[in-house]
Amino acid sequence: MSKLSIGIDIGGHYIKAALIEEYKFLRRWEEPTSEGRTIEGVTEQLKRIAGELEPPGYTLSVGIGMPGFLDLQREHLVLSPNFPDWKGLPLKTLLEDRLKRKVMIENDANCYALGEQLAGLAKGLKDFVVLTLGTGIGGGIVVDGRLFKGAHGFAGEPGHIALGETELCGCGCYGHLEAISGTDAMERKAGQIGLPEDMKILWARKDEPAIAEIIMPSLQTMAKAIASITHLFDPEMIILGGGFSRAEGLLSILEPMALKYLVPHFRDIFNLKISLLGNDAAMLGAASLADELN
Ligand SMILES: [Zn+2]
Repeated sequence: MSKLSIGIDIGGHYIKAALIEEYKFLRRWEEPTSEGRTIEGVTEQLKRIAGELEPPGYTLSVGIGMPGFLDLQREHLVLSPNFPDWKGLPLKTLLEDRLKRKVMIENDANCYALGEQLAGLAKGLKDFVVLTLGTGIGGGIVVDGRLFKGAHGFAGEPGHIALGETELCGCGCYGHLEAISGTDAMERKAGQIGLPEDMKILWARKDEPAIAEIIMPSLQTMAKAIASITHLFDPEMIILGGGFSRAEGLLSILEPMALKYLVPHFRDIFNLKISLLGNDAAMLGAASLADELN
């Protein structure tokens, strides 16, 4: 990427954005996602943020990382559990119309993977997987150097791998990984027995038996998913990103758990890492898509 462009990462709680040139973050912006997450509220926000970030006299293209399922052409939002009212919207056209500029949309975790490939741990790698651990669990898969989108554009959704039975997922199904190992799921379980619904507090007190009983089985399930992803894609690296990946000591717990589920010769090549770019990866990946339009 060479030119000035804007990358925006839309989250259920926060919108993060940056003006980027040559992988350098020239300006940053972060604010809570507008109340109710309505399309009107959020598009107004995006328009204002893009205006704030770009230098006077410019109308820059914007790359947007969006949680949820997009169609293969990256024009329609098929489903986003965090933005239920946006289901089926022709998001690209709608945003271009309201923001009065060119827009590229991509799944947020896919943007994260692109960012890692451009300037993170995956630089120079051809086969890797990014898992974003947070409220939900997202994923970006790169195969032979290219983002793997699947036949319909829906590939790379580890959060909906079925490993449970009764846990209700945001997508409406039961037993999906993010309904077991997402921080929302762990916090909800803690709340049910009178513990604080705050992942940071829970993690700091994870040695207490009642809290360990919530967190450890969730991590075991996550480890099963990581082992299965390794078996499916034989990646050079699996990168953990997202807020929960920052939990101190997570890797030293998760790695041995995953190794237990790996076929022996996969254990030697298993390469699980924590993202160094953090949230910057998604903004960078989104901006790189916009860069193609400028
Ligand atoms: Zn699901």
